[in-house]
Amino acid sequence: MHLKTLTLRGFKSFASATTLEFEPGVTCVVGPNGSGKSNVVDALAWVMGEQGAKTLRGGQMADVIFAGTSGRAPLGRAEVSLTIDNADGALPIDYTEVTISRTLFRSGGSEYAINGSPCRLLDIQDLLSDSGLGREMHVIVGQGQLDAVLRATPEDRRHFIEEAAGILKHRRRKEKALRKLDSMQANLTRVQDLTGEIR
Ligand code: ATP
Repeated sequence: MHLKTLTLRGFKSFASATTLEFEPGVTCVVGPNGSGKSNVVDALAWVMGEQGAKTLRGGQMADVIFAGTSGRAPLGRAEVSLTIDNADGALPIDYTEVTISRTLFRSGGSEYAINGSPCRLLDIQDLLSDSGLGREMHVIVGQGQLDAVLRATPEDRRHFIEEAAGILKHRRRKEKALRKLDSMQANLTRVQDLTGEIR
């Protein structure tokens, strides 16, 4: 599995559609300060489901949408697509090439897609979680992050290891199931109350 292309449109400083092509092996992104190198890394994290505006170096999620410059008006949406070569079947999906896409509208809506078909964020997280490209993004090591790992508490370190081992995916599903059970229990109690009142 390797990342093939990354297309940004309206994402941070990339107002016009820009596609980066990655060959197998090491890719270096070079440019002057402030030219958008870190924005490329932010786009990778974002399309893979990152939900933390701070992790993306913003105050709120809408900060990823091109905010305009003196010569160009702000845009109403940010779109990023990532195409992954899946010839080795590392992603649990029957395609040799997988494109995941994420769009955010300034009005607030979000869209996700896998190979052009609309999906939920959870579907993208599930698709990537066993490949090491999990939600916590340990494949993206940002500036200062190594320090954070070295200084992490035992609990936090366990969290890193669980994500890397693919356990978090099941923990998330368990939490979701428990939340459903809780709301079922509340419904059941309500039904029992009503039955009691009718008798
Ligand atoms: P350095 O080498 O200093 O780390 P860099 O190449 O990594 O720099 P980035 O941090 O990726 O640069 O890009 C910063 C630029 O992106 C700034 O000029 C900033 O104004 C611009 N930028 C960030 N968010 C937006 C946005 N929403 N709209 C327009 N421009 C943005």
